[in-house]
Order: sequence, then structure tokens, then C-alpha cells
Amino acid sequence: MRDLTDAFLELVRRAATDLPPDVEQALREAREQEEPGSAARSALDTILENVRLARENSTPICQDTGTPLFYVHHPEGWSTRALREQIRAAVAEATRRTYLRPNAVDSITGKNTGDNLGDEAFPTIHFEEVEGDELIVDLMLKGGGCENVGAQASLPDTRLGAGRDLEGVRKVVLEAVFKAQGKGCAPGVLGVAVGGDRGSSFLGSKEVLLRPLQDSNPNPALDELEQRLTQQANQLGIGPMGFGGKTTVLGTKIKGMHRLPASYFVSISYMCWAYRRRRMVVRGDEIAYS
Ligand code: SF4
Repeated sequence: MRDLTDAFLELVRRAATDLPPDVEQALREAREQEEPGSAARSALDTILENVRLARENSTPICQDTGTPLFYVHHPEGWSTRALREQIRAAVAEATRRTYLRPNAVDSITGKNTGDNLGDEAFPTIHFEEVEGDELIVDLMLKGGGCENVGAQASLPDTRLGAGRDLEGVRKVVLEAVFKAQGKGCAPGVLGVAVGGDRGSSFLGSKEVLLRPLQDSNPNPALDELEQRLTQQANQLGIGPMGFGGKTTVLGTKIKGMHRLPASYFVSISYMCWAYRRRRMVVRGDEIAYS
């Protein structure tokens, strides 16, 4: 099988140093919404300048380069064992070149491995075989601060008056944003999964963050809820980095999942403004990045 280690290395470099255009566009639009001279506008100016410098110098957009989450869709016949080895080699090399900060800490001993290679979940690599002849690899770098303000609710929640319906979902998501109060580096994007078990629900809430920021949910009810949540989160006044203002989130993405009749989980993954995700597509000898 072809050795794609260098291609994976380039994917990591792009993800860590070059913020995707849809995210940058949303940050620019948010800046225009904020009052001239306000702390919110100043915070967004600093973020946008940081984005520019990182891109120009191939340096990390944020000092926390996050957990590398790879989503690999491969044609029949590809060796996932070989792909895993190549991805891990690329991650170690990216760390050596300082595209990534060494982030893999053994939770029992407290020792940092120094190369971002921990157990089988660090980096996290999801594999799925698909039809066709293209290898498609998405990489998301998920910061620690925003991961810390993620939340999971089990509905119903009588304290919030949140039942097992989309109105209940709306209440628990807004509460998570309110509790975060800008921690996790607002403005960010909300990834929400409704249903699943506790584990699959959290996985779903991250996967849904792979959607383009400006797209629409094909499910009209979820599309309406996405827009409503974004609007209402931005009315909380928390603002960029919690400094107050009109921009607390840049968008909301929701996924519905099947569940047991006994359970109704709502999982919320918060992605910070450093919404680093990039895609690599391999078709024959050609490799394209977006
Ligand atoms: S939450 Fe995001 S922006 Fe904040 S420190 Fe972590 S990676 Fe950086």
C-alpha cells in the first residue's frame, strides 16, 4: 500500500496553522457586528490577526493544538493498520516540527510522551469503509479549554423544565452555553447530538462539527432549532472570550440519533473559535486538500 505519511503530515500542518475559510469568514462577519472600540471587537481583531500570522508563518493558530481527531473514509481493500501507523508517524513528525504542541499526557503517571502518541485513542482515529475509490480523511483539532465546557444532559430535567423533545434540547443547550460564560474561548460552534447512548452521543456531537459552518440542516425542524439556538445564545451577552457583546457562538450544528426508549441524551460539544478542521482526498496519484 502507498505510504501517505507525508500527505498526513501536510494535513496536520494545514489544520494546525491555517484556519478554514468558512470559520474566518464567520469571525470577520462577527467583528462587523460588534461596536467599534468595544472589548468584543478588539478580541476579534486580535483573533483575526493571530489567524493571519499563523497562516503566513506556518505556526499553530493557538498554543493548545488540541486532541487530533481523524475521520478516515477508505475504499475496500485499504489496510487500516497501515493507515494508523502512517497517521501516527505523521503526528509524531508534526510535533517534532512544532505544528503540534506535545499534548499526550499519561493520566496515571502524569508523564507527557512528548510526541503526541498516547494509547489507541490519542490521536483518535475513526475508520469507515465506503464505496468508491477515494480515500477521504478529515482532521479536527479539538482544544482542551472548549472540551472542558462540553456537557451531556439526560432528559427529562425537571430543574430546567426540559422534557424529551426539541424544546427540552433547546433549554439544555442554552444552559451549557450560559454555564460556560465564555470559557472555552468564545465565539465558538455548538455541536449537538440528540439521542444515542452516552458514548455514541458524544461522538455524534463532535462528528457534526465537520459540517461546513454556513450550511443548512436538511431536516427542517433541526434547521430551525440550529438557527434559533445560535440567535438565542448570542442574546446572552457573553461575547467573544466572555468580554460581553453580540457574538457568543458562530453557529450550531445538530444531529439526531436513535436511542433506547429508556434514555434521551443530549450531548453538547463546544468548539472554540480555533475551529481547526481540514480535509484530504486521495484519488489515484492525486492528493487534494480543502
Ligand atoms: S479552547 Fe481553543 S482557542 Fe482556547 S486555548 Fe484551547 S484551543 Fe486555544
